[in-house]
Amino acid sequence: MNDVPLVITVDGPAGSGKSTVAKALANRLGLSYLDTGALYRAIAWHLNNHGISAVEGETLTNALEALSITLGKQGVCVGGHNVTSLIRSPEVDGVVSCYAALPSVRRKLLDLQRRQAILPGIVADGRDMGTVVFPCASCKFFLIATPEIRTQRRVKEIRERGETVSYQEVLEGIRERDRIDSERAEAPLRKPENSLEIDTSGMSIEEVVSRMYEIVANVVSL
Ligand code: C5P
Repeated sequence: MNDVPLVITVDGPAGSGKSTVAKALANRLGLSYLDTGALYRAIAWHLNNHGISAVEGETLTNALEALSITLGKQGVCVGGHNVTSLIRSPEVDGVVSCYAALPSVRRKLLDLQRRQAILPGIVADGRDMGTVVFPCASCKFFLIATPEIRTQRRVKEIRERGETVSYQEVLEGIRERDRIDSERAEAPLRKPENSLEIDTSGMSIEEVVSRMYEIVANVVSL
């Protein structure tokens, strides 16, 4: 039996299908799923709600030091408060990338993310999984899709929650988030070296998951 957890990373821009396929792949492989976007969203939700701006300084340092953040089967909790459903709001969508660009916010989450890599293994999705958090992962994927497809997916997801939103508003939000995530100095969104890029634009979830499963099976001889 292998005593080292299997780590599979899935990076890519907003709406590329990462979370849906990473969750399905984890299920198929019997591994845990790590949604690192939820951690950044939870911190952004907390700081924004407490009126703490996205700038480095003493106020932010103190707030981060005092902040307890945990991840469990029930979702993500900040300060003992389960925020799993609150962090999917358009308000959090609009501010999360500004907080995620701050080095002290990223430092706060680094160990917490790495500690999730327990046996038998994890499928971790985010922006810097293969580049910074798990550079030695066994298998690295980078998912992409056209901005139009990514917007359609996000609009569908939001409308399924019973909320109203315009296509144009979501498209602009996605473009802005990708711009901030790719241009930041700390752990920017990049295709990791030795990662396999999959354009999910014309593919169903099942097709993407099967393709990834075959690749993982080849690499780690399941
Ligand atoms: O994956 P999701 O779209 O929920 O991520 C929300 C935001 O969190 C991203 O736009 C990005 O700013 C930040 N993020 C990050 N690094 C990660 C995961 C998410 O900077 N590993």
